[in-house]
Amino acid sequence: MIIVMGIDASIAQISEVVTRVKGLGYDAHISEGEDRTIIGVVGSGPTIDREQLAMMAGVKEVIRVSKPYKLASLEFHPEKTLVPLNGVQVGSEKLALIAGPCSVESRSQILETAHAVKEAGATALRGGAFKPRTSPFAFQGLGEEGLKLLAEAREATGLPIVTEVMDSELVPMVCEYADMLQIGARNMQNYALLNAVGKSQHPVLLKRGMSSTIEELLMAADYILSHHNSRVILCERGIRTFETATRNTFDINAIPVLKQTTHLPVLADPSHATGKWEYVEAASLAAIAAGADGLIVEVHHDPECAVSDGRQSLKPERFAELVKKARRVAEAIDRIL
Ligand code: PEP
Ligand code: MN
Repeated sequence: MIIVMGIDASIAQISEVVTRVKGLGYDAHISEGEDRTIIGVVGSGPTIDREQLAMMAGVKEVIRVSKPYKLASLEFHPEKTLVPLNGVQVGSEKLALIAGPCSVESRSQILETAHAVKEAGATALRGGAFKPRTSPFAFQGLGEEGLKLLAEAREATGLPIVTEVMDSELVPMVCEYADMLQIGARNMQNYALLNAVGKSQHPVLLKRGMSSTIEELLMAADYILSHHNSRVILCERGIRTFETATRNTFDINAIPVLKQTTHLPVLADPSHATGKWEYVEAASLAAIAAGADGLIVEVHHDPECAVSDGRQSLKPERFAELVKKARRVAEAIDRIL
């Protein structure tokens, strides 16, 4: 952090700022220029409230140099984090492919889809048992019954399970069934939930909030990482913009930005990013080309009758086609699927 003093700042004001900086546990490096003094804040310690320093007499501006997120940053942790998922080290050259329905609806539905996505080459099975729905009157998920059906599908296919947890009190129960906990877009800034999944030491798939910046996503990841739970995967799933042709706007930029700022693996969710099945393939291929470490895709054996997100769900045969094409894109950029 750099504190720029005003041209007419007095010696007393400068020394008061230096005293404050030192009182916060940091060193103050003073550099006296031709017409103003600049104070460099160096060292590490508790987060400094920039606004408070900016309010001090004689201070013109306080400029942040380092990032507000720490544990998730590549600067702080230069080695890439790899998260194991069914033989794939997510974040390595091998891509992960999580697929399955938006919601678990019935035994036959989840089993049929699980077998189909496994056949097509999926690494893990997704399916929501607790659903964050915009309307309280929409299908809310089967709850624990849905988790049991997911466990049965894992038993039958060997695919690990990725499923959403929406409530910190339910974390222990969901952990009993899930191999990876999903934090949905609507809960990216639910700090009690982030702390709970952090403490659980269970692997976490953290989705970007629909109105959250990349920086906020990384700060949310810091909550989980602060509990020494390092198995965190980030997911770009589209953001809200003025565009209405698609459900969300797929922020493809987020993928290279994240790859260059964090050591955590980054997945893309082309289903929620587009909201329409006919765009899912194009968005998937683009995500891989942009450097994503894998995909999470909604697949349903009968999308027309799905209880949630049927509009964006691929039929199993379309998913199998997508995997074939994705493999070729992966190869072109020296990755494996
Ligand atoms: C989902 O994965 O079905 C879901 C609700 O995703 P998001 O939180 O990204 O909207
Ligand atoms: Mn969904």
